[in-house]
Amino acid sequence: MEKDKEILVKVENLKKYFPVRGGFFQKTVGYVKAVDNISFNIKKGETLGLVGESGCGKSTTGRTILRLWNKTSGKVYFKDKDIYKLNKQELRKLRLKMQLIFQDPYSSLNPRLTVNEIVGESLKDHKICSKAEIHDRVIETIKTCGLAPYHIKRYPHEFSGGQRQRIGIARALILNPDFIVADEPVSALDVSIQSQIINLLQELQDKMGFSYLFISHDLSVVKHISHKVGVMYLGSMVEMAPKDELYKNPVHPYTKALLSAVPIPDPTIRRDRIILKGDLPSPSNPPSGCKFHTRCPYVTKKCKEQIPKYREIDKDHFVACHLV
Ligand code: SF4
Repeated sequence: MEKDKEILVKVENLKKYFPVRGGFFQKTVGYVKAVDNISFNIKKGETLGLVGESGCGKSTTGRTILRLWNKTSGKVYFKDKDIYKLNKQELRKLRLKMQLIFQDPYSSLNPRLTVNEIVGESLKDHKICSKAEIHDRVIETIKTCGLAPYHIKRYPHEFSGGQRQRIGIARALILNPDFIVADEPVSALDVSIQSQIINLLQELQDKMGFSYLFISHDLSVVKHISHKVGVMYLGSMVEMAPKDELYKNPVHPYTKALLSAVPIPDPTIRRDRIILKGDLPSPSNPPSGCKFHTRCPYVTKKCKEQIPKYREIDKDHFVACHLV
Protein backbone atom coordinates (compact mmCIF):
# COMPACT_ATOMS: atom_id res chain seq x y z
CA MET A 1 0.00 0.00 0.00
CA GLU A 2 1.05 3.58 -0.80
CA LYS A 3 1.21 4.64 2.84
CA ASP A 4 3.46 1.73 3.75
CA LYS A 5 6.12 2.61 1.22
CA GLU A 6 9.41 3.72 2.67
CA ILE A 7 10.43 7.37 2.50
CA LEU A 8 13.29 7.88 0.07
CA VAL A 9 13.82 11.65 0.19
CA LYS A 10 12.96 13.81 3.17
CA VAL A 11 13.26 17.58 3.08
CA GLU A 12 13.00 19.53 6.34
CA ASN A 13 12.72 23.32 6.56
CA LEU A 14 14.94 23.77 3.52
CA LYS A 15 16.12 27.30 2.73
CA LYS A 16 18.25 28.50 -0.13
CA TYR A 17 19.03 32.21 -0.18
CA PHE A 18 21.25 33.86 -2.79
CA PRO A 19 23.09 37.01 -1.64
CA VAL A 20 22.38 40.25 -3.50
CA ARG A 21 25.54 42.37 -3.69
CA GLY A 22 25.73 46.09 -4.23
CA GLY A 23 27.75 49.25 -3.60
CA PHE A 24 31.40 49.97 -4.28
CA PHE A 25 32.66 47.06 -2.14
CA GLN A 26 30.08 44.62 -3.46
CA LYS A 27 28.79 43.97 0.04
CA THR A 28 25.76 41.76 0.65
CA VAL A 29 22.80 44.13 0.70
CA GLY A 30 20.01 41.54 0.80
CA TYR A 31 18.99 38.03 -0.18
CA VAL A 32 16.91 36.42 -2.89
CA LYS A 33 14.89 33.88 -0.93
CA ALA A 34 14.63 31.31 -3.71
CA VAL A 35 13.57 28.49 -1.37
CA ASP A 36 12.12 29.62 1.91
CA ASN A 37 11.51 26.99 4.56
CA ILE A 38 9.88 24.09 2.74
CA SER A 39 9.34 20.52 3.96
CA PHE A 40 8.09 17.40 2.20
CA ASN A 41 8.98 13.80 1.55
CA ILE A 42 8.97 11.48 -1.45
CA LYS A 43 8.38 7.78 -1.06
CA LYS A 44 10.00 4.95 -2.98
CA GLY A 45 8.51 4.65 -6.48
CA GLU A 46 6.51 7.86 -5.99
CA THR A 47 6.38 11.03 -8.10
CA LEU A 48 6.02 14.42 -6.50
CA GLY A 49 4.97 17.03 -9.07
CA LEU A 50 6.27 20.48 -8.13
CA VAL A 51 4.41 23.33 -9.79
CA GLY A 52 4.50 27.12 -9.87
CA GLU A 53 5.31 30.11 -12.06
CA SER A 54 8.88 30.47 -13.29
CA GLY A 55 11.03 32.06 -10.62
CA CYS A 56 9.10 30.47 -7.73
CA GLY A 57 12.03 28.29 -6.62
CA LYS A 58 11.14 24.88 -8.10
CA SER A 59 14.42 24.31 -9.92
CA THR A 60 16.45 25.67 -7.00
CA THR A 61 14.65 23.17 -4.76
CA GLY A 62 15.61 20.31 -7.11
CA ARG A 63 19.24 21.35 -7.34
CA THR A 64 19.59 21.98 -3.61
CA ILE A 65 18.17 18.51 -2.87
CA LEU A 66 20.79 17.01 -5.19
CA ARG A 67 23.43 19.15 -3.44
CA LEU A 68 24.42 20.68 -6.75
CA TRP A 69 23.91 23.97 -4.90
CA ASN A 70 24.55 24.32 -1.18
CA LYS A 71 21.62 24.95 1.12
CA THR A 72 21.35 27.99 3.39
CA SER A 73 19.73 25.91 6.15
CA GLY A 74 17.45 22.93 6.74
CA LYS A 75 18.00 19.24 6.14
CA VAL A 76 17.83 16.84 3.19
CA TYR A 77 17.81 13.11 3.86
CA PHE A 78 18.25 10.43 1.23
CA LYS A 79 17.48 6.96 2.61
CA ASP A 80 17.80 8.41 6.15
CA LYS A 81 21.25 9.87 5.44
CA ASP A 82 21.70 13.60 5.81
CA ILE A 83 23.26 14.36 2.42
CA TYR A 84 24.82 17.58 3.69
CA LYS A 85 26.86 15.58 6.20
CA LEU A 86 28.45 13.34 3.57
CA ASN A 87 32.11 13.82 2.69
CA LYS A 88 33.26 14.24 -0.93
CA GLN A 89 33.74 10.53 -1.52
CA GLU A 90 30.37 9.55 0.01
CA LEU A 91 28.65 12.26 -2.01
CA ARG A 92 30.27 11.03 -5.23
CA LYS A 93 28.92 7.56 -4.49
CA LEU A 94 25.47 8.92 -3.70
CA ARG A 95 25.39 10.89 -6.96
CA LEU A 96 25.18 7.57 -8.80
CA LYS A 97 21.76 7.09 -7.23
CA MET A 98 20.44 10.65 -7.72
CA GLN A 99 20.16 11.96 -11.25
CA LEU A 100 18.92 15.05 -13.07
CA ILE A 101 17.04 15.31 -16.37
CA PHE A 102 17.40 18.80 -17.81
CA GLN A 103 14.79 21.01 -19.40
CA ASP A 104 16.61 21.81 -22.60
CA PRO A 105 17.61 18.79 -24.67
CA TYR A 106 19.49 21.13 -27.05
CA SER A 107 21.97 22.71 -24.67
CA SER A 108 22.31 19.87 -22.15
CA LEU A 109 24.04 17.48 -24.58
CA ASN A 110 27.65 18.05 -25.61
CA PRO A 111 27.51 18.48 -29.43
CA ARG A 112 31.02 17.02 -29.86
CA LEU A 113 30.21 13.67 -28.25
CA THR A 114 28.42 10.69 -29.75
CA VAL A 115 25.40 9.12 -28.06
CA ASN A 116 27.68 6.32 -26.85
CA GLU A 117 30.00 8.84 -25.17
CA ILE A 118 27.18 10.97 -23.71
CA VAL A 119 25.15 8.11 -22.25
CA GLY A 120 28.17 6.03 -21.20
CA GLU A 121 30.15 8.95 -19.73
CA SER A 122 29.17 8.33 -16.10
CA LEU A 123 29.96 4.60 -16.33
CA LYS A 124 33.41 5.55 -17.60
CA ASP A 125 33.95 8.32 -15.02
CA HIS A 126 33.04 6.08 -12.12
CA LYS A 127 34.99 3.14 -13.62
CA ILE A 128 31.92 0.94 -13.26
CA CYS A 129 32.60 -1.35 -16.21
CA SER A 130 34.89 -2.08 -19.17
CA LYS A 131 34.68 -0.32 -22.55
CA ALA A 132 32.91 -3.28 -24.15
CA GLU A 133 30.42 -3.51 -21.29
CA ILE A 134 29.76 0.25 -21.52
CA HIS A 135 28.89 -0.21 -25.20
CA ASP A 136 26.43 -3.02 -24.39
CA ARG A 137 24.84 -1.14 -21.51
CA VAL A 138 24.44 2.02 -23.60
CA ILE A 139 22.69 0.04 -26.35
CA GLU A 140 20.39 -1.63 -23.82
CA THR A 141 19.56 1.70 -22.16
CA ILE A 142 18.89 3.70 -25.34
CA LYS A 143 16.65 0.86 -26.56
CA THR A 144 14.67 1.10 -23.31
CA CYS A 145 14.31 4.82 -24.01
CA GLY A 146 12.93 4.25 -27.51
CA LEU A 147 16.07 4.80 -29.60
CA ALA A 148 17.67 2.30 -31.98
CA PRO A 149 21.10 0.64 -31.54
CA TYR A 150 22.45 2.33 -34.70
CA HIS A 151 21.91 5.74 -33.03
CA ILE A 152 24.85 5.05 -30.77
CA LYS A 153 27.42 6.53 -33.18
CA ARG A 154 25.43 9.64 -34.00
CA TYR A 155 25.81 13.19 -32.65
CA PRO A 156 23.07 15.26 -30.91
CA HIS A 157 22.46 17.56 -33.93
CA GLU A 158 21.30 14.52 -35.93
CA PHE A 159 18.26 14.07 -33.66
CA SER A 160 14.90 15.77 -33.17
CA GLY A 161 14.05 17.49 -29.85
CA GLY A 162 12.10 14.49 -28.56
CA GLN A 163 14.92 12.10 -29.47
CA ARG A 164 17.47 14.34 -27.75
CA GLN A 165 15.38 14.27 -24.61
CA ARG A 166 15.37 10.46 -24.86
CA ILE A 167 19.20 10.63 -24.92
CA GLY A 168 19.08 12.83 -21.80
CA ILE A 169 16.79 10.33 -20.09
CA ALA A 170 19.07 7.41 -21.06
CA ARG A 171 22.04 9.30 -19.60
CA ALA A 172 20.18 9.63 -16.28
CA LEU A 173 19.01 6.01 -16.30
CA ILE A 174 22.21 4.18 -17.13
CA LEU A 175 23.36 4.25 -13.51
CA ASN A 176 20.13 2.66 -12.36
CA PRO A 177 19.20 5.55 -10.03
CA ASP A 178 16.77 5.55 -7.12
CA PHE A 179 15.80 9.20 -7.48
CA ILE A 180 15.50 11.51 -10.50
CA VAL A 181 14.87 15.23 -10.54
CA ALA A 182 13.16 15.92 -13.86
CA ASP A 183 13.38 19.69 -14.32
CA GLU A 184 10.72 20.80 -16.83
CA PRO A 185 11.65 17.79 -19.01
CA VAL A 186 9.00 18.45 -21.66
CA SER A 187 8.54 22.22 -21.69
CA ALA A 188 11.03 22.74 -24.56
CA LEU A 189 9.27 20.13 -26.71
CA ASP A 190 6.35 20.34 -29.15
CA VAL A 191 3.00 19.56 -27.52
CA SER A 192 2.65 16.49 -29.76
CA ILE A 193 5.91 15.06 -28.36
CA GLN A 194 5.30 16.00 -24.71
CA SER A 195 2.88 13.16 -23.97
CA GLN A 196 5.22 10.60 -25.58
CA ILE A 197 8.04 11.65 -23.24
CA ILE A 198 5.77 11.73 -20.18
CA ASN A 199 4.48 8.25 -21.02
CA LEU A 200 8.06 7.05 -21.42
CA LEU A 201 9.05 8.53 -18.04
CA GLN A 202 6.09 6.79 -16.42
CA GLU A 203 6.79 3.43 -18.08
CA LEU A 204 10.41 3.61 -16.94
CA GLN A 205 9.32 4.32 -13.38
CA ASP A 206 6.88 1.38 -13.41
CA LYS A 207 9.64 -0.87 -14.69
CA MET A 208 12.55 0.33 -12.55
CA GLY A 209 10.78 1.59 -9.41
CA PHE A 210 12.64 4.88 -8.88
CA SER A 211 11.13 8.13 -7.57
CA TYR A 212 10.76 11.47 -9.34
CA LEU A 213 10.67 15.06 -8.33
CA PHE A 214 8.90 16.26 -11.47
CA ILE A 215 9.15 20.02 -11.90
CA SER A 216 6.82 21.94 -14.19
CA HIS A 217 5.14 25.35 -14.50
CA ASP A 218 2.04 23.61 -15.87
CA LEU A 219 -0.45 21.68 -13.71
CA SER A 220 -1.78 19.80 -16.75
CA VAL A 221 1.71 18.38 -17.43
CA VAL A 222 2.23 16.92 -13.94
CA LYS A 223 -1.32 15.56 -13.61
CA HIS A 224 -0.69 12.34 -15.52
CA ILE A 225 2.56 11.32 -13.90
CA SER A 226 2.32 12.57 -10.27
CA HIS A 227 1.16 10.71 -7.18
CA LYS A 228 1.07 13.94 -5.21
CA VAL A 229 1.47 17.56 -6.19
CA GLY A 230 3.05 20.54 -4.42
CA VAL A 231 2.37 24.14 -5.42
CA MET A 232 5.08 26.73 -4.81
CA TYR A 233 4.81 30.49 -4.72
CA LEU A 234 7.78 32.82 -4.19
CA GLY A 235 9.92 30.13 -2.58
CA SER A 236 7.22 28.79 -0.25
CA MET A 237 5.03 25.72 -0.51
CA VAL A 238 1.44 26.97 -0.44
CA GLU A 239 -0.39 23.66 -0.95
CA MET A 240 0.43 19.98 -1.26
CA ALA A 241 -1.92 17.02 -1.58
CA PRO A 242 -2.34 13.61 -3.22
CA LYS A 243 -2.99 14.22 -6.93
CA ASP A 244 -6.72 13.44 -7.06
CA GLU A 245 -7.40 15.47 -3.95
CA LEU A 246 -5.53 18.52 -5.26
CA TYR A 247 -7.24 18.51 -8.66
CA LYS A 248 -10.71 17.88 -7.19
CA ASN A 249 -10.53 19.98 -4.03
CA PRO A 250 -7.96 22.74 -4.41
CA VAL A 251 -8.05 25.02 -1.40
CA HIS A 252 -5.40 27.71 -1.80
CA PRO A 253 -6.49 30.64 -4.01
CA TYR A 254 -3.23 30.37 -5.99
CA THR A 255 -3.78 26.66 -6.72
CA LYS A 256 -7.35 27.47 -7.80
CA ALA A 257 -6.06 30.14 -10.18
CA LEU A 258 -3.47 27.79 -11.70
CA LEU A 259 -6.08 25.03 -12.07
CA SER A 260 -8.55 27.36 -13.75
CA ALA A 261 -6.07 27.63 -16.64
CA VAL A 262 -5.90 23.85 -17.18
CA PRO A 263 -8.01 22.85 -20.20
CA ILE A 264 -10.88 20.39 -19.57
CA PRO A 265 -11.25 17.67 -22.24
CA ASP A 266 -15.07 17.61 -21.84
CA PRO A 267 -16.60 20.54 -23.88
CA THR A 268 -19.86 20.36 -21.87
CA ILE A 269 -18.06 21.42 -18.68
CA ARG A 270 -17.37 25.11 -18.31
CA ARG A 271 -14.82 26.54 -15.91
CA ASP A 272 -14.27 30.24 -15.29
CA ARG A 273 -10.69 31.28 -15.67
CA ILE A 274 -9.26 33.13 -12.65
CA ILE A 275 -6.92 35.82 -13.91
CA LEU A 276 -4.39 36.88 -11.30
CA LYS A 277 -3.67 40.58 -11.13
CA GLY A 278 -0.11 41.90 -11.24
CA ASP A 279 3.21 40.14 -11.69
CA LEU A 280 5.11 37.81 -9.42
CA PRO A 281 6.79 40.05 -6.79
CA SER A 282 10.58 39.92 -6.45
CA PRO A 283 11.81 37.10 -4.18
CA SER A 284 14.45 39.52 -2.85
CA ASN A 285 11.70 41.73 -1.48
CA PRO A 286 8.66 39.50 -0.91
CA PRO A 287 5.39 40.96 0.39
CA SER A 288 4.78 40.92 4.15
CA GLY A 289 2.44 38.37 5.76
CA CYS A 290 1.13 35.99 3.12
CA LYS A 291 3.42 36.38 0.10
CA PHE A 292 0.44 35.92 -2.20
CA HIS A 293 -1.57 38.81 -0.69
CA THR A 294 -0.69 41.32 -3.47
CA ARG A 295 -2.49 39.11 -6.02
CA CYS A 296 -5.08 37.29 -3.94
CA PRO A 297 -8.78 38.08 -4.60
CA TYR A 298 -9.64 37.24 -0.95
CA VAL A 299 -6.96 39.30 0.80
CA THR A 300 -7.76 40.64 4.30
CA LYS A 301 -5.88 42.81 6.77
CA LYS A 302 -4.64 39.72 8.57
CA CYS A 303 -3.13 38.38 5.31
CA LYS A 304 -0.95 41.48 4.98
CA GLU A 305 0.36 41.19 8.53
CA GLN A 306 0.65 37.53 9.46
CA ILE A 307 2.39 34.67 7.68
CA PRO A 308 -0.17 31.83 7.31
CA LYS A 309 0.86 28.54 8.89
CA TYR A 310 1.47 25.61 6.55
CA ARG A 311 -0.70 22.94 8.12
CA GLU A 312 -2.47 19.66 7.43
CA ILE A 313 -6.20 20.27 6.85
CA ASP A 314 -7.06 16.74 5.75
CA LYS A 315 -5.09 13.53 5.43
CA ASP A 316 -1.85 14.43 3.57
CA HIS A 317 -3.42 17.70 2.40
CA PHE A 318 -1.33 20.71 3.49
CA VAL A 319 -2.22 24.37 2.93
CA ALA A 320 -0.88 27.78 3.99
CA CYS A 321 -3.83 30.19 3.98
CA HIS A 322 -5.67 32.16 6.69
CA LEU A 323 -9.01 31.46 5.01
CA VAL A 324 -8.81 27.73 5.67
FE1 SF4 B 1 -5.16 34.94 0.06
FE2 SF4 B 1 -4.99 35.62 2.61
FE3 SF4 B 1 -5.06 33.04 1.93
FE4 SF4 B 1 -2.92 34.52 1.40
S1 SF4 B 1 -3.69 34.01 3.42
S2 SF4 B 1 -3.89 33.11 0.04
S3 SF4 B 1 -3.83 36.49 0.92
S4 SF4 B 1 -6.69 34.56 1.67
